[in-house]
Amino acid sequence: MTIPNGTTRPALADSLNIHIIGAGMGGTAAALALAKKGYTNITVWEYASTLGEVGAGINITPNMSRILERWGVLDIASNEGTALDGASVLNCSSDEVLTKVDFSYIEQEFGYPFYTVHRASLQKALVTGAQDSGVVKFNLGKQVVSYDFDQTRFLVEDRKSKEQEWVQADVLLCSDGVKSKARGEMMKRRGEEDHVEDTGQAAYRILVKREMINEDPDLVPFFEGSHSYRWIGEKRHIIAYPISSHNVFNMSTAHPDRRFVEADTWTASGSKEEMLDMFHDFCPRVQKLLRLVPEGEVLEWKLRVHAPIPNWIDGAAALLGDACHPTLPHLAQGAAQAVEDGAVLGSVLARLTDKKDINKALRVYQELRKPHADWAVATAASNGKGLHLAKGSAAAEERDKLFKEASASGGSNPDKAIDKVTQSKLYSHDCVGNAEAKYDELFAQMT
Ligand SMILES: Cc1cc2nc3c(=O)[nH]c(=O)nc-3n(C[C@H](O)[C@H](O)[C@H](O)COP(=O)(O)OP(=O)(O)OC[C@H]3O[C@@H](n4cnc5c(N)ncnc54)[C@H](O)[C@@H]3O)c2cc1C
Repeated sequence: MTIPNGTTRPALADSLNIHIIGAGMGGTAAALALAKKGYTNITVWEYASTLGEVGAGINITPNMSRILERWGVLDIASNEGTALDGASVLNCSSDEVLTKVDFSYIEQEFGYPFYTVHRASLQKALVTGAQDSGVVKFNLGKQVVSYDFDQTRFLVEDRKSKEQEWVQADVLLCSDGVKSKARGEMMKRRGEEDHVEDTGQAAYRILVKREMINEDPDLVPFFEGSHSYRWIGEKRHIIAYPISSHNVFNMSTAHPDRRFVEADTWTASGSKEEMLDMFHDFCPRVQKLLRLVPEGEVLEWKLRVHAPIPNWIDGAAALLGDACHPTLPHLAQGAAQAVEDGAVLGSVLARLTDKKDINKALRVYQELRKPHADWAVATAASNGKGLHLAKGSAAAEERDKLFKEASASGGSNPDKAIDKVTQSKLYSHDCVGNAEAKYDELFAQMT
C-alpha cells in the first residue's frame, strides 16, 4: 500500500488489529481511510454473501466527493452517475414548478458537482479502493451475533455452516446500519433506551429503466436531462433523478404507512396497486412513470427516526454511520455522513502512538462528528415535515410563497436539501481537515 505524500505512517501501523462490522458505506469508507493512512491489519465482516446491485439511487454531495477524491476513487462512482444541473420542487397534482435552483454554483463554490448514482456504484468505488490497498480483508456471509465490549471481541456466525467463533480486536468499528445490533447492546449496557420513533411514514424505491418508456416524449427529458424533481403534496412527496449513466430514472417516495411495512429493510417488496392508489392524484407525467414499474419491483419500507444517542463509544469500540445517526432521506446525507465518519476515524486512529489511548482517540472522533451528524439528522427530519404540509393550509401557502421568492432572489429555500445556507454548512465541511486541526487539542482534553 502506498502512503499518500505528506502522510506519516502510523506508529501502530502493523500492530493494531482493526475489525469493522458491516461493509456498507460507513464500514468500507473506514476500511479505506485506515488503509490509506498505512494500517495493515484491517478486517471487514459482512452479513451479505455478495456486495452487489442492492438498493437504488444515492447522492454524492461535495463533502463526500472531497473525501473520495483524496482516496482516488471518486471517478469510479461518478463516471456511472449524473452531475445534476439543478433541482425543482413541483406541485404534485398541477405539476407547477414551485421553485427551481441552478446547481452550477455548487461546483464553483465547493469544488464538485452534486452527483446522483446507484448505491452499487458508490459501494463499488469504496470496495475497489479497499481491495486495491491489499491490506483490507473482506469476510462475507458472516453475521455478528454478539458483542463483548469489555474484551473488545465479537461472536461471528457463518451464515451457511452456522459455525461460530469469537474474534478478538484491538479496535472494533461497528457500522452495522440502521438496525444496528451493536448500538442496541451498547445502550443496554448503560441502561439507556434505544428509542425509535415511528414517523408514520413509509417509502417506495422505484427504478424506471429507459427501455421501459418506449421513447415517450413526455418522459425522455427525465432521462436525457440532469435534473432532480421533487413533487410535493399533503403528507407525501416523490423525489426523482437520473442515475446509472442516464439509463435509469430513480424515484423515491415518502408517504403515510398504511400497511405497517417492515422497518428499514431494503429488499421488502411492496404492492404496485397500493403504490398507484397512494399517488392517484399526482400529475399525469408522474402517473405514467409509476405505471411503468413492473409488478414485483416495488420496494417499500417504513421510515424511522431515532432520538440522538448520547454515546457512540464503548471501550475500544465505536459506532459509525446509520448505526449511531440514522437519518431520513430528505436531506440526501445518509451516505455522506457515514463516509465522513469513516474518514475521521482514519484520521484520529492514525494519530495513536499507544494502544492504551484507543478509547481517548475514539472519544475525539465522537467529539468531532456527533454535533454535525446530529444536526444533519434533525434537519432532514424537519425538512420532511415542511414538505408535507396540509393542502390549502396557511402554512403551505406561506411555504409556497417562500419557494417563489427563493427562485427569484436566491434567498432561503423551504426545501433545506436545496437551500444554499444548509448546503453550504454541509458541503463546505472538510471533516478530515477539521479532524487534523483539532485532534491535539481535543485529545489533551480527554481524561
Ligand atoms: C442493502 C442496502 C440497500 C440500500 N439502498 C439504499 C438506497 O437505495 N438509497 C439510499 O439512500 N440508501 C440506501 N441504503 C442505506 C444507505 O446505504 C445508508 O443509509 C448509508 O449509506 C449509511 O451507511 P452505513 O454504512 O451506516 O449503513 P449501510 O450502508 O446500511 O451498511 C450496513 C451494513 O452492515 C451489514 N450488517 C448489518 N448487521 C450486520 C451483522 N450483524 N453482521 C454483519 N454485517 C451486518 C449490512 O448487511 C450492511 O451491509 C441501503 C442500505 C442497504 C444495507
